[in-house]
Amino acid sequence: MNAETRPLVEAVNLHKHFHGVDVLKGIDMTVAEGEVVCLLGPSGSGKTTFLRCINQLEIFDGGRLYVDGDLLGLRESGGSLHRLSEKHIAQQRRQIGMVFQRFNLFPHKTALDNVIEGPVQVGGVSKKQARIEAGELLERVGLSERADHYPAQLSGGQQQRVAIARALAMKPKLMLFDEPTSALDPELVGEVLAVMRELADDGMTMVVVTHEIAFAREVADRVVFMDGGVVVEEGKPADVIRNPQHERTKTFLSRII
Ligand code: ADP
Repeated sequence: MNAETRPLVEAVNLHKHFHGVDVLKGIDMTVAEGEVVCLLGPSGSGKTTFLRCINQLEIFDGGRLYVDGDLLGLRESGGSLHRLSEKHIAQQRRQIGMVFQRFNLFPHKTALDNVIEGPVQVGGVSKKQARIEAGELLERVGLSERADHYPAQLSGGQQQRVAIARALAMKPKLMLFDEPTSALDPELVGEVLAVMRELADDGMTMVVVTHEIAFAREVADRVVFMDGGVVVEEGKPADVIRNPQHERTKTFLSRII
């Protein structure tokens, strides 16, 4: 990480358990502003849970998470910590865009109407302005021609690009991607990765859970390998992917490359 760039995301000793099972066992991680971090690791290692904690879709059980200096989900008063109100949490979540494996577009709305939904309903943006911005975003993801199409009329790759435009419409400081291409037919993966690559080139801060090793190698500034709820190793993609230091990383990479 460049010493001059400040951390946009900072996880400090983050813990999460489900029904008594520790899923995150003290994650320490920072993501600098403008940095692209790819999270790699076997299924069940806690990658999705970590993303969901950053977006407050899960409430973590211990440690601290900061986004842009804001302590997430908690406020300190009288020497102890209290949970923030739902309204305050919703405000914090608005800074963060998330793209899921499944695109979850509104089926009865066109691509354009899916993109304007957030800005109009929660962002207080006028419909007219939201439409202009949504048009620009659809152009950015290469879908200007499809603005009036409904999700069922779009391929999986196109739907996922609409989902990316929809997340960007809220002007997030940070974008989280949870295996955004793993539900797609192989021939549609490239178009989604190309949009993500452009976003990275434009300086967006991104945390990406992916099994696309070529993408991680070419686009990530850093890869973080997780296993069993801990960070096993991290570093520049060329180092971690070509020359992993830990046995667990070596085993994982040998299975997927
Ligand atoms: P990954 O993204 O690396 O595949 P996950 O974060 O999805 O890993 O899951 C980590 C572990 O937490 C898994 O064992 C999973 O079964 C468990 N887990 C995730 N979400 C829940 C949940 N809502 N309830 C119970 N267990 C869960």
